Amino acid sequence: MNTTTVKAFGASAADADLAQMNIARREPTPKDVEIEILYCGVCHSDLHTARNDWGFSVYPTVPGHEIVGKVTRVGSDVTRYKAGDTVAVGCLVDSCRTCSSCEHDLEQYCLTGFTGTYGGTDKHLGGKTYGGYAEKIVVDEHFVLQVPDNLDLAAVAPLLCAGITTWSPLKHWNVGEGSKVGVVGLGGLGHMAIKLAKGLGADVTLFSRTPDKTQDAKDLGADHVVISTDEDQMEAVKGNFDLIIDTVPYIHNINPYVATLSISGTIVLVGYLGDLNPMLNTIPMIMGRKSVAGSLIGGIAETQKMLNFCGEHNIVSEIEMIKMQDINDAYERMLKSDVRYRFVIDMASLKN
Ligand SMILES: [Zn+2]
Ligand SMILES: [Zn+2]
Repeated sequence: MNTTTVKAFGASAADADLAQMNIARREPTPKDVEIEILYCGVCHSDLHTARNDWGFSVYPTVPGHEIVGKVTRVGSDVTRYKAGDTVAVGCLVDSCRTCSSCEHDLEQYCLTGFTGTYGGTDKHLGGKTYGGYAEKIVVDEHFVLQVPDNLDLAAVAPLLCAGITTWSPLKHWNVGEGSKVGVVGLGGLGHMAIKLAKGLGADVTLFSRTPDKTQDAKDLGADHVVISTDEDQMEAVKGNFDLIIDTVPYIHNINPYVATLSISGTIVLVGYLGDLNPMLNTIPMIMGRKSVAGSLIGGIAETQKMLNFCGEHNIVSEIEMIKMQDINDAYERMLKSDVRYRFVIDMASLKN
Protein backbone atom coordinates (compact mmCIF):
# COMPACT_ATOMS: atom_id res chain seq x y z
CA MET A 1 0.00 0.00 0.00
CA ASN A 2 1.31 3.46 -0.91
CA THR A 3 2.10 5.77 1.97
CA THR A 4 3.26 9.31 2.58
CA THR A 5 5.63 10.34 5.33
CA VAL A 6 4.41 13.01 7.77
CA LYS A 7 5.91 14.74 10.78
CA ALA A 8 4.58 13.64 14.15
CA PHE A 9 5.38 13.84 17.85
CA GLY A 10 5.52 10.64 19.83
CA ALA A 11 7.21 8.51 22.46
CA SER A 12 9.78 5.86 21.51
CA ALA A 13 9.66 4.23 24.97
CA ALA A 14 7.71 4.46 28.24
CA ASP A 15 10.45 6.47 29.92
CA ALA A 16 11.26 8.71 26.92
CA ASP A 17 10.02 12.26 26.47
CA LEU A 18 7.85 12.80 23.44
CA ALA A 19 9.93 13.97 20.48
CA GLN A 20 9.57 14.65 16.78
CA MET A 21 9.51 11.61 14.51
CA ASN A 22 8.31 10.64 11.04
CA ILE A 23 5.37 8.29 10.53
CA ALA A 24 3.65 6.79 7.48
CA ARG A 25 0.06 7.59 6.54
CA ARG A 26 -1.69 5.54 3.87
CA GLU A 27 -2.65 7.13 0.55
CA PRO A 28 -6.42 7.68 0.74
CA THR A 29 -8.39 4.60 -0.33
CA PRO A 30 -11.74 5.22 -2.12
CA LYS A 31 -13.55 5.67 1.25
CA ASP A 32 -10.86 7.75 2.96
CA VAL A 33 -10.57 11.39 3.92
CA GLU A 34 -7.12 12.94 4.32
CA ILE A 35 -7.07 15.67 6.96
CA GLU A 36 -4.50 18.34 7.73
CA ILE A 37 -4.61 18.57 11.52
CA LEU A 38 -5.01 22.12 12.85
CA TYR A 39 -5.61 21.41 16.55
CA CYS A 40 -5.33 18.41 18.81
CA GLY A 41 -6.59 18.28 22.40
CA VAL A 42 -4.50 16.61 25.11
CA CYS A 43 -6.38 13.88 26.99
CA HIS A 44 -5.22 12.00 30.10
CA SER A 45 -5.31 8.82 27.99
CA ASP A 46 -2.53 10.34 25.85
CA LEU A 47 -0.27 10.60 28.87
CA HIS A 48 -1.19 7.13 30.17
CA THR A 49 -0.44 5.64 26.74
CA ALA A 50 2.84 7.52 26.22
CA ARG A 51 4.06 6.28 29.62
CA ASN A 52 2.56 2.77 29.39
CA ASP A 53 0.55 3.28 32.60
CA TRP A 54 -1.97 0.64 31.44
CA GLY A 55 0.69 -1.87 30.38
CA PHE A 56 -0.36 -2.35 26.74
CA SER A 57 1.41 0.48 24.91
CA VAL A 58 3.41 -0.42 21.80
CA TYR A 59 6.26 1.88 20.74
CA PRO A 60 6.68 4.18 19.03
CA THR A 61 3.33 5.65 20.04
CA VAL A 62 1.80 8.88 18.72
CA PRO A 63 -1.10 9.99 20.97
CA GLY A 64 -3.95 12.40 20.22
CA HIS A 65 -7.67 11.70 19.74
CA GLU A 66 -9.24 15.14 19.91
CA ILE A 67 -8.57 16.18 16.34
CA VAL A 68 -9.85 19.15 14.33
CA GLY A 69 -8.60 19.88 10.83
CA LYS A 70 -9.24 20.64 7.17
CA VAL A 71 -9.85 18.07 4.48
CA THR A 72 -6.99 18.03 1.95
CA ARG A 73 -7.98 15.07 -0.25
CA VAL A 74 -10.82 12.55 -0.48
CA GLY A 75 -11.09 9.10 -2.07
CA SER A 76 -13.23 8.51 -5.16
CA ASP A 77 -16.19 7.03 -3.20
CA VAL A 78 -16.35 9.69 -0.48
CA THR A 79 -19.70 11.50 -0.61
CA ARG A 80 -19.94 13.53 2.58
CA TYR A 81 -16.71 15.53 2.48
CA LYS A 82 -14.63 17.54 0.03
CA ALA A 83 -11.29 19.32 0.16
CA GLY A 84 -11.48 22.42 2.34
CA ASP A 85 -14.18 21.16 4.74
CA THR A 86 -13.61 21.62 8.47
CA VAL A 87 -13.83 18.22 10.13
CA ALA A 88 -13.03 16.37 13.32
CA VAL A 89 -11.90 12.91 14.41
CA GLY A 90 -12.34 11.53 17.92
CA CYS A 91 -11.29 8.34 19.67
CA LEU A 92 -12.44 5.87 16.99
CA VAL A 93 -11.20 5.41 13.41
CA ASP A 94 -12.76 2.03 12.59
CA SER A 95 -14.90 -0.85 13.87
CA CYS A 96 -16.34 -4.05 12.35
CA ARG A 97 -19.51 -2.21 11.09
CA THR A 98 -21.55 -5.44 11.22
CA CYS A 99 -21.99 -6.53 14.86
CA SER A 100 -25.13 -5.60 16.82
CA SER A 101 -23.34 -2.70 18.53
CA CYS A 102 -22.09 -1.25 15.25
CA GLU A 103 -25.53 -1.72 13.67
CA HIS A 104 -26.99 0.36 16.49
CA ASP A 105 -24.46 3.21 16.07
CA LEU A 106 -22.58 2.10 19.17
CA GLU A 107 -19.19 1.64 17.51
CA GLN A 108 -17.48 2.31 20.84
CA TYR A 109 -18.90 -1.00 22.07
CA CYS A 110 -18.05 -2.96 18.88
CA LEU A 111 -18.14 -6.62 19.88
CA THR A 112 -14.88 -7.34 18.07
CA GLY A 113 -13.24 -4.19 19.48
CA PHE A 114 -13.12 -0.76 17.87
CA THR A 115 -9.95 0.59 16.26
CA GLY A 116 -8.64 3.37 18.47
CA THR A 117 -7.31 6.51 16.81
CA TYR A 118 -3.95 5.67 18.36
CA GLY A 119 -2.61 2.38 19.65
CA GLY A 120 -5.30 0.45 17.73
CA THR A 121 -4.58 -2.30 15.22
CA ASP A 122 -4.10 -0.63 11.84
CA LYS A 123 -6.15 -2.68 9.34
CA HIS A 124 -4.48 -1.03 6.35
CA LEU A 125 -0.77 -0.79 7.18
CA GLY A 126 -0.46 -3.35 9.96
CA GLY A 127 1.11 -2.35 13.24
CA LYS A 128 -0.56 0.24 15.45
CA THR A 129 -2.53 3.36 14.55
CA TYR A 130 -0.94 6.75 15.13
CA GLY A 131 -2.98 9.60 16.57
CA GLY A 132 -3.38 13.31 16.15
CA TYR A 133 -0.01 14.67 17.27
CA ALA A 134 0.86 14.75 13.56
CA GLU A 135 0.58 16.90 10.46
CA LYS A 136 -2.03 14.71 8.81
CA ILE A 137 -4.31 11.75 9.39
CA VAL A 138 -6.23 9.53 6.94
CA VAL A 139 -9.60 8.23 8.18
CA ASP A 140 -12.57 6.37 6.64
CA GLU A 141 -15.35 8.92 6.07
CA HIS A 142 -17.73 7.02 8.38
CA PHE A 143 -15.51 8.05 11.30
CA VAL A 144 -15.08 11.69 10.22
CA LEU A 145 -17.31 14.35 11.79
CA GLN A 146 -18.59 17.72 10.58
CA VAL A 147 -17.71 20.75 12.70
CA PRO A 148 -20.25 23.60 13.05
CA ASP A 149 -18.64 26.66 11.46
CA ASN A 150 -19.60 29.13 14.22
CA LEU A 151 -17.38 27.56 16.88
CA ASP A 152 -13.77 28.32 17.85
CA LEU A 153 -11.98 25.38 16.22
CA ALA A 154 -9.25 25.00 18.83
CA ALA A 155 -11.84 24.87 21.61
CA VAL A 156 -13.89 22.30 19.67
CA ALA A 157 -11.07 19.72 19.82
CA PRO A 158 -11.75 18.53 23.41
CA LEU A 159 -15.40 17.91 22.55
CA LEU A 160 -14.20 14.84 20.62
CA CYS A 161 -13.28 12.98 23.81
CA ALA A 162 -14.09 15.00 26.96
CA GLY A 163 -17.31 16.28 25.39
CA ILE A 164 -18.74 13.04 24.04
CA THR A 165 -17.70 11.07 27.14
CA THR A 166 -20.01 13.22 29.25
CA TRP A 167 -22.67 13.85 26.58
CA SER A 168 -23.39 10.17 25.94
CA PRO A 169 -24.51 9.38 29.53
CA LEU A 170 -26.46 12.64 29.77
CA LYS A 171 -28.45 11.59 26.70
CA HIS A 172 -28.68 7.89 27.56
CA TRP A 173 -30.21 8.73 30.95
CA ASN A 174 -32.56 11.30 29.36
CA VAL A 175 -31.31 14.47 31.00
CA GLY A 176 -33.39 17.46 29.98
CA GLU A 177 -35.24 20.49 31.28
CA GLY A 178 -35.49 20.30 35.07
CA SER A 179 -33.30 17.20 35.53
CA LYS A 180 -31.10 17.34 38.60
CA VAL A 181 -27.55 16.46 37.61
CA GLY A 182 -24.50 16.14 39.84
CA VAL A 183 -20.93 16.25 38.52
CA VAL A 184 -18.05 14.81 40.55
CA GLY A 185 -14.66 16.34 39.75
CA LEU A 186 -13.86 19.53 37.86
CA GLY A 187 -11.27 18.71 35.20
CA GLY A 188 -11.39 18.20 31.44
CA LEU A 189 -14.41 15.88 31.69
CA GLY A 190 -16.14 17.60 34.60
CA HIS A 191 -16.14 21.05 33.07
CA MET A 192 -17.71 19.66 29.88
CA ALA A 193 -20.31 17.75 31.93
CA ILE A 194 -21.37 21.02 33.57
CA LYS A 195 -21.61 22.91 30.28
CA LEU A 196 -23.48 20.15 28.42
CA ALA A 197 -25.90 19.36 31.27
CA LYS A 198 -26.63 23.07 31.61
CA GLY A 199 -27.13 23.31 27.85
CA LEU A 200 -29.71 20.51 28.10
CA GLY A 201 -31.65 22.50 30.70
CA ALA A 202 -30.62 20.61 33.84
CA ASP A 203 -30.13 22.01 37.32
CA VAL A 204 -26.41 21.28 37.81
CA THR A 205 -24.42 20.74 40.99
CA LEU A 206 -20.66 20.29 41.21
CA PHE A 207 -19.33 18.06 43.97
CA SER A 208 -15.89 19.31 44.96
CA ARG A 209 -13.55 18.34 47.78
CA THR A 210 -12.53 21.94 48.42
CA PRO A 211 -14.32 25.32 48.14
CA ASP A 212 -11.64 26.85 45.90
CA LYS A 213 -13.38 25.66 42.71
CA THR A 214 -16.76 27.19 43.62
CA GLN A 215 -16.44 30.35 41.56
CA ASP A 216 -15.02 28.53 38.54
CA ALA A 217 -17.86 26.01 38.63
CA LYS A 218 -20.46 28.78 38.74
CA ASP A 219 -18.71 30.62 35.90
CA LEU A 220 -18.99 27.40 33.84
CA GLY A 221 -22.73 27.25 34.53
CA ALA A 222 -23.12 25.17 37.70
CA ASP A 223 -26.14 26.22 39.79
CA HIS A 224 -24.77 24.84 43.05
CA VAL A 225 -21.54 23.53 44.56
CA VAL A 226 -21.53 20.90 47.31
CA ILE A 227 -18.34 20.36 49.27
CA SER A 228 -18.14 16.58 49.40
CA THR A 229 -15.95 16.53 52.52
CA ASP A 230 -18.63 18.48 54.46
CA GLU A 231 -21.08 15.98 55.96
CA ASP A 232 -23.79 18.58 56.54
CA GLN A 233 -23.69 19.66 52.91
CA MET A 234 -23.81 16.04 51.73
CA GLU A 235 -26.74 15.31 54.09
CA ALA A 236 -28.59 18.32 52.68
CA VAL A 237 -28.58 16.82 49.15
CA LYS A 238 -29.53 13.25 50.14
CA GLY A 239 -31.97 11.72 47.63
CA ASN A 240 -31.58 14.70 45.31
CA PHE A 241 -30.01 13.74 41.98
CA ASP A 242 -31.48 12.00 38.94
CA LEU A 243 -28.03 11.46 37.45
CA ILE A 244 -24.49 11.91 38.71
CA ILE A 245 -21.55 11.93 36.27
CA ASP A 246 -18.47 10.84 38.20
CA THR A 247 -15.33 11.96 36.34
CA VAL A 248 -12.77 11.20 39.06
CA PRO A 249 -9.85 9.34 37.41
CA TYR A 250 -8.51 7.53 40.49
CA ILE A 251 -9.81 5.07 43.09
CA HIS A 252 -12.36 6.72 45.39
CA ASN A 253 -15.37 6.10 47.62
CA ILE A 254 -18.61 6.41 45.67
CA ASN A 255 -20.96 5.36 48.51
CA PRO A 256 -21.54 8.96 49.70
CA TYR A 257 -22.67 9.90 46.19
CA VAL A 258 -25.07 6.96 45.90
CA ALA A 259 -26.81 8.37 48.98
CA THR A 260 -27.47 11.62 47.13
CA LEU A 261 -29.29 9.88 44.24
CA SER A 262 -33.07 10.13 43.99
CA ILE A 263 -35.25 7.00 43.77
CA SER A 264 -34.23 5.24 40.51
CA GLY A 265 -31.27 7.60 40.16
CA THR A 266 -28.00 6.57 38.53
CA ILE A 267 -24.35 7.39 39.11
CA VAL A 268 -22.23 6.88 35.98
CA LEU A 269 -18.48 6.38 36.21
CA VAL A 270 -16.59 7.74 33.20
CA GLY A 271 -13.11 8.48 34.52
CA TYR A 272 -11.85 5.53 36.54
CA LEU A 273 -11.07 1.95 35.44
CA GLY A 274 -10.66 -0.63 38.17
CA ASP A 275 -11.87 -1.88 41.54
CA LEU A 276 -13.70 0.42 43.92
CA ASN A 277 -12.44 0.92 47.44
CA PRO A 278 -14.22 0.98 49.80
CA MET A 279 -16.56 -1.55 48.23
CA LEU A 280 -19.98 -0.62 47.01
CA ASN A 281 -22.69 -0.92 49.66
CA THR A 282 -25.85 -2.29 48.02
CA ILE A 283 -28.29 -1.26 50.77
CA PRO A 284 -29.04 2.24 49.47
CA MET A 285 -29.16 0.86 45.92
CA ILE A 286 -31.76 -1.78 46.80
CA MET A 287 -33.75 0.52 49.07
CA GLY A 288 -34.05 3.12 46.30
CA ARG A 289 -33.65 1.20 43.01
CA LYS A 290 -30.44 3.12 42.41
CA SER A 291 -27.91 2.19 39.74
CA VAL A 292 -24.15 2.38 39.51
CA ALA A 293 -23.14 2.38 35.84
CA GLY A 294 -20.26 3.06 33.48
CA SER A 295 -20.05 4.66 30.05
CA LEU A 296 -17.41 4.84 27.33
CA ILE A 297 -17.11 7.84 24.93
CA GLY A 298 -19.95 7.68 22.35
CA GLY A 299 -20.82 6.41 18.87
CA ILE A 300 -20.17 8.35 15.67
CA ALA A 301 -23.79 9.42 15.06
CA GLU A 302 -24.10 10.50 18.69
CA THR A 303 -20.84 12.45 18.47
CA GLN A 304 -22.17 14.30 15.42
CA LYS A 305 -25.38 15.14 17.33
CA MET A 306 -23.29 16.50 20.21
CA LEU A 307 -21.24 18.69 17.85
CA ASN A 308 -24.42 20.01 16.26
CA PHE A 309 -25.89 20.73 19.70
CA CYS A 310 -22.70 22.56 20.70
CA GLY A 311 -22.96 24.62 17.50
CA GLU A 312 -26.56 25.56 18.29
CA HIS A 313 -25.80 26.39 21.94
CA ASN A 314 -22.34 27.88 21.45
CA ILE A 315 -20.68 25.35 23.72
CA VAL A 316 -16.94 24.70 23.53
CA SER A 317 -14.22 23.61 25.93
CA GLU A 318 -12.14 25.98 28.08
CA ILE A 319 -8.64 25.59 26.74
CA GLU A 320 -5.02 26.60 27.09
CA MET A 321 -3.21 26.51 23.75
CA ILE A 322 0.31 25.06 23.65
CA LYS A 323 2.95 24.39 21.03
CA MET A 324 3.72 20.79 20.09
CA GLN A 325 7.19 21.19 21.56
CA ASP A 326 5.65 22.00 25.00
CA ILE A 327 3.87 18.67 25.31
CA ASN A 328 6.21 17.14 27.91
CA ASP A 329 5.76 20.13 30.23
CA ALA A 330 2.01 19.99 29.63
CA TYR A 331 1.93 16.34 30.78
CA GLU A 332 3.72 17.29 34.01
CA ARG A 333 1.20 20.07 34.61
CA MET A 334 -1.72 17.70 33.93
CA LEU A 335 -0.42 15.37 36.62
CA LYS A 336 -0.76 18.31 39.05
CA SER A 337 -4.22 19.23 37.68
CA ASP A 338 -2.64 22.52 36.64
CA VAL A 339 -4.78 23.16 33.56
CA ARG A 340 -8.06 25.00 33.05
CA TYR A 341 -9.40 22.78 31.65
CA ARG A 342 -7.82 21.22 28.59
CA PHE A 343 -4.55 21.72 26.74
CA VAL A 344 -4.92 22.00 22.98
CA ILE A 345 -1.91 21.80 20.67
CA ASP A 346 -1.66 24.35 17.87
CA MET A 347 -0.42 21.92 15.23
CA ALA A 348 1.04 24.74 13.13
CA SER A 349 3.91 24.57 15.65
CA LEU A 350 4.89 21.15 14.29
CA LYS A 351 5.79 22.76 10.96
CA ASN A 352 8.58 24.81 12.62
ZN1 LIG B 1 -9.50 10.91 25.57
ZN1 LIG C 1 -18.78 -4.03 15.54
